[in-house]
Amino acid sequence: TQSLADSDPEIFKGIQGELGRQQEEIELIASENIVSKAVLEAQGSVLTNKYAEGYPGRRYYGGCEFVDITEDLARERAKKLFNCQYVNVQPHSGAQANQAVFFALLQPGDTFLGMDLACGGHLTHGSPANQSGKWFRPVTYKVREDDQTIDYDNVAEMAEREKPNLILAGASAYARQIDFKRFREIADSVGAYLMVDMAHYAGLIAGGAYPDPLPHAHIVTTTTHKTLRGPRGGMILSNDLELGKKINSSVFPGLQGGPLEHVIAGKAVAFGEALKPEFKLYAQQVVKNAKVLAEVLIERGLAIVTGGTDSHMMLVDLRPKGVTGKATERELEKALMTCNKNGVPFDTAPFTITSGIRLGTPAGTTRGFGEDEFRQIGHWIADVVSSMNGGDEADPAVIASVAAQVRELTHRFPIYR
Ligand code: PLP
Repeated sequence: TQSLADSDPEIFKGIQGELGRQQEEIELIASENIVSKAVLEAQGSVLTNKYAEGYPGRRYYGGCEFVDITEDLARERAKKLFNCQYVNVQPHSGAQANQAVFFALLQPGDTFLGMDLACGGHLTHGSPANQSGKWFRPVTYKVREDDQTIDYDNVAEMAEREKPNLILAGASAYARQIDFKRFREIADSVGAYLMVDMAHYAGLIAGGAYPDPLPHAHIVTTTTHKTLRGPRGGMILSNDLELGKKINSSVFPGLQGGPLEHVIAGKAVAFGEALKPEFKLYAQQVVKNAKVLAEVLIERGLAIVTGGTDSHMMLVDLRPKGVTGKATERELEKALMTCNKNGVPFDTAPFTITSGIRLGTPAGTTRGFGEDEFRQIGHWIADVVSSMNGGDEADPAVIASVAAQVRELTHRFPIYR
């Protein structure tokens, strides 16, 4: 019954510190967002106490009548939101959702095509360091060197040559629209499953601001915490009920034990929010804001991979300014803007250094920033980067001036008051 502040002041202090950081800084990490108080409340609820192995109506524990209600609501809302027949809301994360699909559809050693990590794919899409790369045989497709977009003819040739069992589309650092219909044609031409990992784009897809993979893919995976603005977690969707049965057994008992019912309730709340008309406006604003941010950065002499964006994110190529991703991430953080270093396609810098940063607008848009604010943010980023003069450190006077202005802006757009 004691409050956290009284019972564990050290952890309380850590959480308060993080709250302050989120309130004061501009969050530009493309995979992050700011959930509503309602999502936080569901996730911090007594549902965390409940064991509920199995699925609603078919549990291995007693006392599941209430978590059956919340999990069913999560499933119904997700199906409505993505207009599909099947969903599994139990994966603990995006990585586990992907793992569950591999476990359901592939045998160890099977070949699959995925997007190269260095070209924007995710670790779980066949990186040699990940289980997907160790237990299966990934063949990775790259982007074109000249315009840095996906070369569908090349994907088709690779599919013809490698005869994969599955083709994986979707990315963590690809700003342009993906042609899911074309991917399905390629998959059909070689009898492969098409899996789409829409983790980054899910909120945009829900809001109608990015192409929808569900009419084309056999299976779609996602995280729930990025543009979709829910609690950290994963989800698997499909229009094929037979495949759904395989996925259900693969998630539980194949990979996981008890579902995180408090997180699933948080997912349900977030899906409810995403079903409201305001969410469409949000998704559209996220993309408008990203386009403005990219424009300003280009005006100020930075390069954007593919020359712009159709989504919530962009990869900034820092090579025209002669600075590294590592140094830029650190210097921007001193100016109260958080982002992550990220390799650009065909980067020659080590992956711990990189020549780029990835920027995204989902979190800023949630706190109310529009195009004016993102234009201003673009200038602040360019001010800091230009003041590095090709070196490792920005001018302290520029950092201080930008940080003061960021503080003023974040105070005008408060969160979690
Ligand atoms: N898939 C994609 C495309 C991602 O970008 C990510 C996260 O960065 C994941 C999967 C993994 O999600 P999680 O971090 O929840 O395991």
